[in-house]
Amino acid sequence: MFWDQESETLTRPTLEQLQLKRLQDTVQRVGQRVPFYRDKFKELGLTHGDIKSLDDMRRLPFTTGADLRTIYPDGMVAVDREEPVRLHTSSGTTGKPKAIFFSRNDVNNSAELIARSLVMTGITRKDVFQNMMSYGLFTGGLVMHYGAEKVGCLVIPAGPGTSERQLLLLQDFKSTAVHILPPSARYFASFLEQKGINPRKDISLRKAFVGAEPHSEETRRRIEQAFDCDVYNSYGLTEMNGPGVAFECEHKAGLHLWEDNFILEIINPATGEPLPEGETGEMVLTTLKREAMPIIRYRTRDITSIITEPCKCGRTHRRLNRITGRSDDMLIIRGTNIFPQQIERVLMSFPQVGRNYVIVIEGLDDMTVKVELSAAGFDGQVEHLAALQTQMVEKLKAETWVKPKVELLAPGALPVAEGKAKRVIDKRSL
Ligand code: ADP
Ligand code: ZN
Repeated sequence: MFWDQESETLTRPTLEQLQLKRLQDTVQRVGQRVPFYRDKFKELGLTHGDIKSLDDMRRLPFTTGADLRTIYPDGMVAVDREEPVRLHTSSGTTGKPKAIFFSRNDVNNSAELIARSLVMTGITRKDVFQNMMSYGLFTGGLVMHYGAEKVGCLVIPAGPGTSERQLLLLQDFKSTAVHILPPSARYFASFLEQKGINPRKDISLRKAFVGAEPHSEETRRRIEQAFDCDVYNSYGLTEMNGPGVAFECEHKAGLHLWEDNFILEIINPATGEPLPEGETGEMVLTTLKREAMPIIRYRTRDITSIITEPCKCGRTHRRLNRITGRSDDMLIIRGTNIFPQQIERVLMSFPQVGRNYVIVIEGLDDMTVKVELSAAGFDGQVEHLAALQTQMVEKLKAETWVKPKVELLAPGALPVAEGKAKRVIDKRSL
């Protein structure tokens, strides 16, 4: 199951040779055409001839999200004004958007990477692909759409419509694959349950692609159960085209990052020094094929590690472990570091938990986890609720080392976000 077998299975030396060549081209191009990089290289006394091996990578400057906001709207474009054919912006979950320009080749290439990613899970032209992500500036809509079309699927640009509408499309057109955000998947799962839909009999789903936000193995298992299908983790960010940066193959054991298109580094976020392979740190990515807006050593702030063993599928592009969150999502509560995803993992391990939760921090580092129960998990018996609450507090404390308060809520009590949700309300900083 390969889309581009040759590129996907290059030997490591060939792949690294290709990376070096593309890196050299990129560095030369941005040094000539992008004042932002020209000035940075000058400051460091660097010329493109200094990049003689991949190790020389570390001599290059980082690019940060703050840099992208400073050069907003178009200060990093490396081609003539009429070359770009598309614009996307980050969804702005963490502040002002970052604008990314695509040339025609960039658009085509992003679709190629999606095609590789989908095909490695077994998607073929026979699939009906319902894209439930929002269309517009967010890459989750269009970038995924064109990739699935490239494979030859029938693509339904459903967008994030109501659950009734999604179900209608799923049933009428017998969709076999969906692309969906983790909270929307949980929400849709509880909708199916309430409607009494039997996923095995009443719908035809075989695969769900879940991504754009951190989520846990527990969430994967829940969605697989609720939809009766395989769930694959999909990772991407607007700065690097959007989806299609790293994706799980049929083995669902880590995400292959397309290393002929991106150079992957894991660094210590505090010192900026590269970490040995396998250690957990911040992912840094460099585009290798981007025409309109190449980006050098982008600090993604996403925390992960590289899986060192080769994958059974035969692809040589290395895999990432599930992204645990962004370094700036990390909460420091009474001196302890906590990622929201640790809390999600615990909550989703309780079958009584429904589709939505929120973490509130206030006062002197008091953490309250507000969590909706599912319709089935809410039997109205006060003593059951009290026992569940105690169990949750204990499990959360064991996971995070901080004892939270837990508030159990009725199904549907928390507001639902259409796009990416805000999971943490930190009133300390207000
Ligand atoms: P914004 O930065 O405004 O949220 P993006 O849509 O570009 O806009 O979001 C990209 C970010 O989403 C990534 O940097 C990462 O933090 C998160 N993300 C995307 N896919 C995944 C995934 N599969 N697992 C964990 N986090 C993810
Ligand atoms: Zn694989």
